[in-house]
Amino acid sequence: MAITKSEALFKEAVQYIPGGVNSPVRAFGSIGSTPRFIKKADKALMWDEDDNEYIDFIGSWGPMILGHNHPLVLDAVLEYAKRGLSYGAATSIEVDMAKLVCSMVPSIDMVRMVNSGTEAVMSAVRVARGFTRRDKIIKFNGCYHGHSDALLVKAGSGVMTAGVPDSLGVPAGCTADTVTADYNSLESVQDCFDRYGEQIAAIIVEPVGANMGTVPPKPGFLQGLRDICDKYGSLLIFDEVITGFRMQADGAQGHFGVTPDLTTFGKIIGAGMPVGAYGGRREIMEMVSPVGAVYQAGTLSGNPVAMAAGIAQLTYLKEHPEVYTKLNKTADSFFSELQKIVDESGRGYQVNHICSLGSMFCTTQEVYDYETAKTSDTKAYADYCNYMQNHGIYLAPAQFEAMFISAAHTQEQLAQTLETARNYFKNN
Ligand SMILES: *Cc1c(COP(=O)(O)O)cnc(C)c1O
Repeated sequence: MAITKSEALFKEAVQYIPGGVNSPVRAFGSIGSTPRFIKKADKALMWDEDDNEYIDFIGSWGPMILGHNHPLVLDAVLEYAKRGLSYGAATSIEVDMAKLVCSMVPSIDMVRMVNSGTEAVMSAVRVARGFTRRDKIIKFNGCYHGHSDALLVKAGSGVMTAGVPDSLGVPAGCTADTVTADYNSLESVQDCFDRYGEQIAAIIVEPVGANMGTVPPKPGFLQGLRDICDKYGSLLIFDEVITGFRMQADGAQGHFGVTPDLTTFGKIIGAGMPVGAYGGRREIMEMVSPVGAVYQAGTLSGNPVAMAAGIAQLTYLKEHPEVYTKLNKTADSFFSELQKIVDESGRGYQVNHICSLGSMFCTTQEVYDYETAKTSDTKAYADYCNYMQNHGIYLAPAQFEAMFISAAHTQEQLAQTLETARNYFKNN
């Protein structure tokens, strides 16, 4: 049988790039197949090098909330690209971006732009430690906060899928001050504080777990974290790299009505360009250099073309709150329908969802943390995912990732996706 262009490219790629990819989840290892090499995308569709068409449910892992190729974003990028790609000097567009973020997220008085979610989180943690003059941080099992050393402890996402919770090359000293607790368990958080109390600089949390599959917080969980931080003088950091500007304009913190001290962004904030940001209360952010003594820098941070893309998308979202109302309603009915299809199949699988994020876990157990997520039958997910991909539905190639619905998905595309899932369960 002739090999596909994607297969040929992958063979070549593995010679020159570790695993053939620049980020592990793209390797399709956890569904036992080879990656589709994508050549272009538009709205909710993507095409691979073999001209297969897909309805895209990852949206670049979140940024494409308005779909690929949104004309406002594209125009902004083209316009700014003509002015020179980067200057390494202050620009007015950085002020525009900072004002926009502060206007959309009330807990943020000041914001610093960086180039990825990883950088945003790493920097926010440093600021929290500098501000509190404490070293320990609490993170949750199954939450992913990028690949910086201190946070690669029982991380979710690609690390979890590979079944290797920690990474080689991270000195024990780097994680010695990282304490882990169980998601959705205030008891386990209290245990950490009982043990380390006023040594804890911050709790960092994904306000909706989205890197062990989609795991929403139980009622009261986030507020409980806020209360315990207040009690011990620790900071609360919401990692809103996925939830920020997705659940609603002011993210998970607006949705749940819980105010963090620091927030990290990525993904949507750059509309597909490499952008991250962290921000929070003025007194905390004024710890950052050159005002304060917490050092953080970036040659390409606040890059004008990247800012232009992000601003175009965020401005549209700010001015059109109805996008969220409609998207969240559409996603609600999509995921309820998917749960129905799964129920009819008699397999007892769980569909978790909140707003436009969701996951089908191949387990009969309710999924509310890392341990329960891990009860999923990843082989069963792989089988389902390969079928869907072979039938034009591009799902996350791993059980422990979310499905992202965008405002560009049409009712027809969503109906076609559900029909494909129904056929899978009928025939397999
Ligand atoms: C993706 C992600 C990160 C890391 O962002 P990168 O841009 O990949 O470095 C951090 N936190 C969360 C919650 C994420 O989903």
